[in-house]
Amino acid sequence: MSPLYKEIATIIAQDGPISIERYMSICLSHPRLGYYTTHNPFGASGDFVTAPEISQMFGELLGVWISEAWAAAGGPSDARLVELGPGRGTLMSDVLRVARIAPNFLANIEVDLVEISPVLRGLQRQMLAGETTPLSWRADFAEVPRAPLFILANEFFDALPARHYAKTPTGWHERLVGLDSKGALAFGLAPHPEPALKVIAPEGSVIEVNAIAQRLMAEIAERIVVDGGVLLVVDYGYTQTTLGESLQAVARHGYVDPLRTPGEADLTTHVDFAALKRAAKARGAKALGPITQGAFLTQLGIVRRAEALMKKADERQRANIEGALRRLAGTGDARTHMGEMFKAMAVMHPDTPDLPGFAD
Ligand code: SAH
Repeated sequence: MSPLYKEIATIIAQDGPISIERYMSICLSHPRLGYYTTHNPFGASGDFVTAPEISQMFGELLGVWISEAWAAAGGPSDARLVELGPGRGTLMSDVLRVARIAPNFLANIEVDLVEISPVLRGLQRQMLAGETTPLSWRADFAEVPRAPLFILANEFFDALPARHYAKTPTGWHERLVGLDSKGALAFGLAPHPEPALKVIAPEGSVIEVNAIAQRLMAEIAERIVVDGGVLLVVDYGYTQTTLGESLQAVARHGYVDPLRTPGEADLTTHVDFAALKRAAKARGAKALGPITQGAFLTQLGIVRRAEALMKKADERQRANIEGALRRLAGTGDARTHMGEMFKAMAVMHPDTPDLPGFAD
């Protein structure tokens, strides 16, 4: 039993069952015992590996893309390069390195790193210690100053807490985390239905709604429409809103029970790209994609980039580059190939011309 388990059981004993949104939020960002507050989840000894940690190619291609987006937006001189949930800082480091070949972009930006975790802020500071571009850390997107914003979000939206609703004969009831007769954490349903939920689906269906993600997307789109800029979201998820839930807990590269070790496993849900796209368009922004990560990276030239790197590599490095190319852009078993399960979507000012990576 994790220390946070007892804390959550006490909250529920006092206040009653809590929403999955609140459960995820406590597990991930409890100020003392939350997963992101206390863990460095990345790498072979960590819990999971993300695209920028697999290969520098990912960050380099995104770096070229975002500097092109800045140029397509007219090269504003007061622009900000923003990353949501920068992890170890690897993606930003690769983006800033490749941006040196586009010196105009680098000279006209300041960087904002939006990060809740003190542990990860520390790692980001170390990783970016040699950068000459001004860097600021923000706990929340709302703290990023008004300016044309060029925003990257890789595996960020999946970490935002969602809610679940289950269809019963009396309507849609919110799925909650409560205590069973032995005092253990257990899923249950709210006694009263949600009158506002009108989705038509057979009994037994579950839907997942990420209001926090949709609100954040609306906030970002609104800023982009007023001040200019672009957001690139890369994450695992689905293109169409579907029935079913996708809450998953991952620790040490394997799936675990989401209620067993709160605070010690990463909790995520799949991103509902259709819902995010609707939220962005409702604020007047233009959206490109979602398209699969494989198609996106291929259009951005990952194969050529891999070939260029392989020319300078020894045999072992060549095998690594080939492996990284397969993992990032390949399709096949979703546990080892990100190409299909992961999607890319861009949100931009309506006047920005179409950007590379999103052709059908
Ligand atoms: N983008 C990185 C890390 C992905 S993990 C990569 O691809 O490697 C998710 C990241 O989002 C972590 O840095 C985590 O601390 C951060 N995070 C999660 N919820 C957040 C929130 N509500 N606000 C800001 N950062 C958050």
